[in-house]
Amino acid sequence: MQDHEGREKIILITGGSRGIGAATARAAAAEGYAVCISFLRNEQAANGIVRQIVDAGGRAMAVRADVGSESDVCSLFEKLEAELGTLTALVNNAGILEQHMRLDAMDAARLARVFNTNIIGSFLCAREAVKRMSTNYGGRGGAIVNLSSAASRLGSPNEYIDYAASKGAIDTMTLGLAKEVAAEGIRVNAVRPGVIYTDIHASGGEPDRVDRVKSAVPMQRGGHPEEVAKSILWLLSDQSSYSTGALLDISGGR
Ligand code: NAP
Repeated sequence: MQDHEGREKIILITGGSRGIGAATARAAAAEGYAVCISFLRNEQAANGIVRQIVDAGGRAMAVRADVGSESDVCSLFEKLEAELGTLTALVNNAGILEQHMRLDAMDAARLARVFNTNIIGSFLCAREAVKRMSTNYGGRGGAIVNLSSAASRLGSPNEYIDYAASKGAIDTMTLGLAKEVAAEGIRVNAVRPGVIYTDIHASGGEPDRVDRVKSAVPMQRGGHPEEVAKSILWLLSDQSSYSTGALLDISGGR
């Protein structure tokens, strides 16, 4: 399917094998995007998402690529371009958190893993997207949505201040990059989900975390990946054509 300028809509969703990324991939395909998802370990899940999209008549591909590795990111963008065409949308979704602990127990190796995937990964992918979308580089524009988190304004004490701080960096990158490329045809926005039912909470050591904290959510429930996906798709679409540098909370009022 084509955008308002007659271009095919081509999207990269990093970490699209599970959770919010997978829901976004399905929603994007339903809106006519050709979809590339990346993943780190779970090839079976990634191939399952591709199969669902292709079976429904869409175009999709999956690439194993660590967003924290510069060479992986460069080859991810090259493979996408060779197979699907020119990128029009990027969702910087891949992200991790680690076992709940206080800051005074965190070692440098953990901090490096979290900051490398969540911050450097998003920067590298944004860089490659800008080089392809910016009118300064001969591109025809596009849109980027970054996955931040409500954690960036809550701080996540006693759980993962490192993760929360990495999302603070994503908020700041969104604000700066939005201004940097606003006159080059690229809009850059972020979503800040609250507690969403995905596997990420198991990485913190508490698979049922959403149900434990949901009473602290004004809406009294956790969110679903599809509810985040809809907001991401809206921010990528022409429906939000005058929005850039926005940080959209999707957190049930929390
Ligand atoms: P998830 O279910 O744990 O899925 C994470 C995805 O990222 C998987 O597809 C995983 O691939 C991929 N991934 C992890 N490390 C990667 C790396 N180094 N390179 C490439 N891909 C990598 O996570 P989620 O809950 O959907 O979260 C998605 C995003 O939303 C994250 O940025 C997260 O911080 C943010 N977020 C989530 C919540 C929430 O409550 N769930 C709330 C706020 C913000 P494999 O399948 O191969 O492992």
